[in-house]
Amino acid sequence: MPDVDILVVGAGAAGIAAARAAQTAGLSCRVLEARNRPGGRAYTDSTTLGAPFDLGATWLHAAHRNPLRPLAEAMGMAPFDHGPVRVSACFDGGRRIGEAEMASYDAAWEGFHTRLAALTPLPGESAGALAARAGFGQGYWDATVAHWEGPVICAAPLAEMDARDYLDTLLEPPDLLLAEGAGALLVRLARDLPITYGAVVERVEWGGPLVVAEGAFGRLRARAIIVTVPTSVLASGAIRFDPALPPETEEAIHDLPLGLLTKIGLRAAGEDRLGLPPFSGIERRVEREDEAAMTAIAWPFGHDHLMGFIGGPAAWSLGAEGPEAVVAFALEELSRNFGARAAAAIRRRGALVSDWGRDPYSLGAYSHARPGRSAARGILARPLAGGRLCFAGEACHVTLAATLGGAWESGTLAVGHALLASAGG
Ligand SMILES: Cc1cc2nc3c(=O)[nH]c(=O)nc-3n(C[C@H](O)[C@H](O)[C@H](O)COP(=O)(O)OP(=O)(O)OC[C@H]3O[C@@H](n4cnc5c(N)ncnc54)[C@H](O)[C@@H]3O)c2cc1C
Repeated sequence: MPDVDILVVGAGAAGIAAARAAQTAGLSCRVLEARNRPGGRAYTDSTTLGAPFDLGATWLHAAHRNPLRPLAEAMGMAPFDHGPVRVSACFDGGRRIGEAEMASYDAAWEGFHTRLAALTPLPGESAGALAARAGFGQGYWDATVAHWEGPVICAAPLAEMDARDYLDTLLEPPDLLLAEGAGALLVRLARDLPITYGAVVERVEWGGPLVVAEGAFGRLRARAIIVTVPTSVLASGAIRFDPALPPETEEAIHDLPLGLLTKIGLRAAGEDRLGLPPFSGIERRVEREDEAAMTAIAWPFGHDHLMGFIGGPAAWSLGAEGPEAVVAFALEELSRNFGARAAAAIRRRGALVSDWGRDPYSLGAYSHARPGRSAARGILARPLAGGRLCFAGEACHVTLAATLGGAWESGTLAVGHALLASAGG
């Protein structure tokens, strides 16, 4: 006899959605979570900066089609669109640019998207190659736009990701913020679910009529199992599958690596707010897409902290040096833009720095498809053994990949597949 109908590995957005859908379908379920908290790559620290700060997922992207928006609203949260109040403080060589330069920067963004959308990606083409074919790259602001589109937004250089997948997973506004934090939303959604914390799954048996999850917690049997751990963790071999996964599934896992985005929370030292209203964007022009740089949002919700972002190769190399190196770099970046005023306005101590790249349960921030491998997401999402083994999570979503909303939908969908196995289908 099985211990439960469905086992879910991981209590991030996908695992929480799966557990809720299983309960709604009247199935018994157990979620096995390695960490001692729910939320996975969404985690809100509410104490260090004296206000909520998301170390991982921050926005509800593509809010008109994001399943988490209505859920947040139903719980009395008020997702906030800061787009209309956002002021951009953009610097070039230490000088804040004026309106005319801002207009040419905006035009470069617009040109990037319209020119790429007008082309059909060639087989195996990277997003970087597509951009070059679209004639993008020589303009004064082009490297800055590419820096945003690659390392900052997608957490990896455009040359490392598939062009088709890049276009399919573009996210339209509005992007909404939660004052309580996106991690706090997931904690609420996980409340009362049957989750065992500190349960690291090391082995999954899926060859027989029942599936088995094994770890230091023991052995649990179920009719179906939904595995939601990040593809980077799966690729590391942290979970052994018996029998081995089909080659196409294994290949799909390796073709969806995670890039890295590091978040930094820096607090004001006194009353100086650098002349910026809440939700101002801080950014600077870069010479190369892969140049190390920090973008930031100032004083979200009027709090006295900046929310900084470093993405792509710079995030990996600074992360390897440790949080002090990240903070030192962030302060250098601010000094570059604001001069000596930054050192006086921002505290060096008590900063918050995320470390998703070295965290063994994430090993990165979110996935992109390697060039030529846009099909990998669909392949990974395909149920195995009649639904007895399903993969879910952000990497499995073909349009909302890399997001909370995509992870949520893929977790819900996997329960539909697992239901077939559970019913003996
Ligand atoms: C810095 C950063 C910023 C981001 N910004 C945004 C944003 O603004 N908006 C947005 O929508 N998304 C954002 N994302 C992406 C978003 O966080 C993810 O897409 C989403 O949280 C993934 O959910 P998931 O359920 O697929 O995976 P996860 O949240 O990673 O959940 C998987 C779970 O599996 C657990 N696990 C791992 N190994 C094992 C094991 N062996 N046994 C048991 N459990 C295990 C993990 O601990 C984890 O809880 C961001 C991510 C990062 C890191």
